[in-house]
Amino acid sequence: MPSYVIAEKCDGCKGGDKTACMYICPNDLMVLDTNAMKAYNQEPDQCWECFSCVKICPTQAIEVRGYSDFVPLGSSVMPMLGSEDVMWTCKFRNGLIKRFKFPVRTTPEGAANAYESLKGKDLNSELLSTEEAEGRALPRPKALVK
Ligand code: SF4
Ligand code: SF4
Repeated sequence: MPSYVIAEKCDGCKGGDKTACMYICPNDLMVLDTNAMKAYNQEPDQCWECFSCVKICPTQAIEVRGYSDFVPLGSSVMPMLGSEDVMWTCKFRNGLIKRFKFPVRTTPEGAANAYESLKGKDLNSELLSTEEAEGRALPRPKALVK
């Protein structure tokens, strides 16, 4: 189920050139209605519910309606972005609330190097990079061995 903006909470990121939700959406779905100064998801069918816009919105104006199989009516899942972690608040149908924290990435923006761990590996090998270099495959998990 896609993200949606609670209009009363959205302040259009105070009229900046690009709102926070527009900046972060990997699918370029969020747009700003410059007359109303409210953002909205222009193509809900294309939303993959990554929660990025929910986390970055400075006014907590965006929510994602969860699928009924994991978030039945009356329940909710809400992330709150902090400087070191994201606090997830999960509300169950019976009123039970559970919270957990997940650390955020601390690598400065643009500094991540996806190939760092592959240094010295033979990228032309048919083996996966996690398989042993001398060509012997790692043992398969027992559950998969027939
Ligand atoms: S990030 Fe939040 S406050 Fe800013 S435009 Fe988007 S929904 Fe509105
Ligand atoms: S949940 Fe993700 S894909 Fe959907 S609108 Fe927000 S940022 Fe874009």
